[in-house]
Amino acid sequence: MVLSSFRLRIIDPMLPRMKYLIGCYWLIMATWVQAQTKPDYQVQGEAWWAHVQTLADDKMEGRNTGSEGYQRAAAYVAGEFERLGLKPAGTRGYFQPVKFRVRQIIETESSLELVKEGTRDRLSFANDANFILPADMAKHIKAPAVFVGHGLVIPELGVDDLAGLNLKGKIAVLISGGPKRIPGPLKAHFSHTKQQWQALRQAGAIGMAVIRNPKSADIPWERSTLARLQPAMSLADSKLDDAAGMEIAIRINPAKADKFFSGTDHTIAELLKLADEDRPLPKFPLAVSIQATASLKKTHVESMNLAAILEGSDANLRNEYVVLSAHLDHLGVGEAINGDRLYNGAMDNASGVASILEMARLLKSSSLAPKRSVLLLAVTGEEKGLQGSKYFAHYPTVPRQALVADINLDMFMPLHSLQRLRVFGLGESTLGDDIRTVCAGEGIVVEPDPEPDRNIFIRSDQYSFIRLGIPSLSFKFGYEPGSPEERLHKDWLKLRYHAPSDDLSQPVDKAAAAQFNHLLLLFTRQIAESPERPRWNSDSFFRRFAK
Ligand SMILES: [Zn+2]
Repeated sequence: MVLSSFRLRIIDPMLPRMKYLIGCYWLIMATWVQAQTKPDYQVQGEAWWAHVQTLADDKMEGRNTGSEGYQRAAAYVAGEFERLGLKPAGTRGYFQPVKFRVRQIIETESSLELVKEGTRDRLSFANDANFILPADMAKHIKAPAVFVGHGLVIPELGVDDLAGLNLKGKIAVLISGGPKRIPGPLKAHFSHTKQQWQALRQAGAIGMAVIRNPKSADIPWERSTLARLQPAMSLADSKLDDAAGMEIAIRINPAKADKFFSGTDHTIAELLKLADEDRPLPKFPLAVSIQATASLKKTHVESMNLAAILEGSDANLRNEYVVLSAHLDHLGVGEAINGDRLYNGAMDNASGVASILEMARLLKSSSLAPKRSVLLLAVTGEEKGLQGSKYFAHYPTVPRQALVADINLDMFMPLHSLQRLRVFGLGESTLGDDIRTVCAGEGIVVEPDPEPDRNIFIRSDQYSFIRLGIPSLSFKFGYEPGSPEERLHKDWLKLRYHAPSDDLSQPVDKAAAAQFNHLLLLFTRQIAESPERPRWNSDSFFRRFAK
């Protein structure tokens, strides 16, 4: 580190030699102390970015689960783990192989129709509605449909959108989201496929059709519909299938949803207005039946999670692990947008993997290893529905009860300077207090999730750990409503999220990313050093999963 010219100028060369030397000594000491405590975010930002550059390079072909590009990215991460001297914690070195069942739609041989009194309306997969492709998707199906509001069943809050409805053998049509009075994490949990489908299946439904409220949808229909051609994947281990028994799953374009409501007294505009005004939604049988033929190409692939351990310094606590997780997979090569078919996934989520590598390097290079061990986990299949993390959480490579917390990094979005940190799961466990303490020390404002209807709490890998009772948090750069930063985030979601333009040419604040890594490093240290392991707050809904 170079002494700043400002400090040199304040030393008067006419001072007696002794005083000058003492002055120099203190100056050097002060600079040294500062160098120890204040990291150089510019330099660290470049080191972080170098990983992003490698992982989001065209050579990695978008790191789709099961692809050769993913394997190349995995080899790079394993190489970095080795270079850092981390202990392998997979089942095969750093690797934990994961097997997947794969389904891809052959649209020319498939159809989706609305049938009413002998008339048929054939829907366009691109414009009206398309299939989500659960593992048990039927080849042919014809069933009546029922609108079930938000389709939520939350016994402890007395919410039951299915009460009094006959769903036996029917398809449940619903609008995403739920009443504002339901706390965000709870709403997120009960909107998850596993919970929501469990309730619908119990009520006799054979499938579901989802209208995403445009107010909370990240991606406009025109872009999200392209994903219908992507291969759908589920774990080959069928007992980990959240959608078991689901014979049909459909996503409906909100702009075309009136086709489904034709012949009833309702319109999509009316229903969305009620939802947006936080008023109760009606429930009613649809006048149309849904008829579908799904011709699928079915295959298998193997992919892998990667796990490495940075061993703790305490003889007892080193047998407990703070997990730092990030998904390595992205969407691969898909439908072209503006002539580009390669979905590089720089922010989603080369950025998160780069951060856990940087955090490992910084932990390794500091003289003191924390007391607990840190488990670095790069998972596969996140974009296919949190599959790799679910597999790891069910088949952990260290004893499950030794996992004390999961800190998950997924698209933390360093688009501008770091002033505010948005924390998902903030009010649920003692981890919330820890992150508040760390942020206070660094002058960063902590904010809870202001948009619970986007379900971010369950949309990344931390959720696989939460479901097994392990306290977890995830993060994004925060911003104030109406600020220029908010504009940056909204534009990013609209233009780059799950698009080929999430690539290396986009503007990123690398120094802010390094500052974020530093913050998360302090947080990891705090958890790893604390005599007590993190625990769920007594009023947290998720506490029930802790055994
Ligand atoms: Zn993603």
